[in-house]
Amino acid sequence: MVKILDFTQKPNTAKKFITIAIDGPAGSGKTSVSRALASALNFQYFDTGALYRTIGYYFLTKKINTKNIQNISNILCNINIDFKFKNKFQLMFLDNQEITDKINSESVGLITSELSKIPEIRCFLLNIQRNIAKFNNIIMNGRDIGSVVLPDADIKIFLTASAEVRAFRRFEQNKKTKDINYVQILGNIKKRDFEDINRKDCPLIAPKNSIIFDNSNYNFEESINKLLGIINKKIIFL
Ligand code: C5P
Repeated sequence: MVKILDFTQKPNTAKKFITIAIDGPAGSGKTSVSRALASALNFQYFDTGALYRTIGYYFLTKKINTKNIQNISNILCNINIDFKFKNKFQLMFLDNQEITDKINSESVGLITSELSKIPEIRCFLLNIQRNIAKFNNIIMNGRDIGSVVLPDADIKIFLTASAEVRAFRRFEQNKKTKDINYVQILGNIKKRDFEDINRKDCPLIAPKNSIIFDNSNYNFEESINKLLGIINKKIIFL
């Protein structure tokens, strides 16, 4: 039975490690930015979107109707999620099968943002995320890291870019391997933004005290250099 948690409840951990929360909308580059920052700072990174996507992939492959979910607690009890790091890359496993490459499709993204509205699913993943941050200097990225998962994070960054820029980057990344078009991607990004911003529990917001970093006009390297400058200045005072 999955316990309904109070999302306003604070994590009850004695603080030992440095935590950096990176939140932002779909396609803002959170995962690649987190990975690069973690590598430069010698921190662990964790992409919470991959946890949510693993749930999305489970529902998609099991063909579970998301409009009329019965017995969510039972479904969650049967989902066996795991992750490992290989050469600093986060690998995701479902029922002991590696599914890292399968969870990044547009269809998994769309079903995932529908499912992530469900409080039982958020509760199920909340403790997994908090436990990871107990044992590492961590950069964790997602939608509600600085607001809900790690509200006491030492540094909070809200990474964003215009929907058009985010769609264009995703299109450029995938155009060689996937049959996709820009207009479709832009539509999906806007739909996911809407779902993430307007859900009742743990919506996507720039957390209190976060640094809002709009990278629409920066390339990847410029973003990393600027963010490292910001983080290094803050770390000195921790
Ligand atoms: O970050 P990514 O696009 O991989 O996340 C997929 C979906 O998972 C998001 O659209 C969002 O609905 C959900 N998510 C979330 N909270 C997080 C991470 C992801 O609701 N911390």
